Amino acid sequence: MRTKLMAVVAGAAMAFGGTAAAQGTSAPGKAAATKAPAAASRGKTEVTWWGHAAFVIRSPGGAVIAIDPWLSNPKAPKGAAQPEALDAILLTHGHFDHVGEAKALAEKTGARVYGSFELINLLGLPEAQAVGANAGGTFQVKDVTFHLVEAVHSSSYAADPKSPAQYAGAPLGYVLEIDKGPTLYHAGDTGPFEGMSLIATQFKPTVALLPIGGHFTMGPAEAAQAVRLLKVKSVIPMHYGTFPLLQGTPDALTGELKKLRNTAKVVVPEPGATTAL
Ligand SMILES: [Zn+2]
Repeated sequence: MRTKLMAVVAGAAMAFGGTAAAQGTSAPGKAAATKAPAAASRGKTEVTWWGHAAFVIRSPGGAVIAIDPWLSNPKAPKGAAQPEALDAILLTHGHFDHVGEAKALAEKTGARVYGSFELINLLGLPEAQAVGANAGGTFQVKDVTFHLVEAVHSSSYAADPKSPAQYAGAPLGYVLEIDKGPTLYHAGDTGPFEGMSLIATQFKPTVALLPIGGHFTMGPAEAAQAVRLLKVKSVIPMHYGTFPLLQGTPDALTGELKKLRNTAKVVVPEPGATTAL
């Protein structure tokens, strides 16, 4: 509720699952910078953007949740250590740039994987880790309660890129209510839709992670309308710049918000940077 964006720690150091890794660009002499940022901001929620729509979120109560973990995307931080421990993996839809390395991460960490019923069936995960669900569902992982909400997009999945993609259910967004932390909304891939007003009424998100690239999703003008409907105080843009087709920029979003006289703050982390909320 009273979310304040406390700091954006630009990506010299990252710690995932207890493994600290310096980015390729860090000078060797700065190895000390890898000292646990998790400890430094204990009690806060940490959001690490991996580029595109991929995020890893750590809650004050120790839940570690990955959303759309395409951690090998072209904008992902070079040389960063992937999470060693995850409690949950949330998938918005079946497209390759969102499912990403979900299966390998699930295998490595034992995390449960949440997504649409159809997509989860197609992934062929061990039964104990497969949580097929749909919009309207609510789940709890440690101190995080999350809700599956609608998205306006399509969804298909191909286990093998050479075979035709199969229907993967409806696309989803996620609202994460974090105890003693912010309420985050990850929109997945979507255009703007009136139901964002209902998300605002029901969950009162404070921070929205919104696609702004255009072509397959909202561009900056549509994302500004989404910010208006969601009544969020902060927006972290995503799904832009990964490919030449995704042309929306955070600056363009800022301009569109200005036109609407909307005062939401546009927070632009570098891939690999951890934002404390
Ligand atoms: Zn998509």
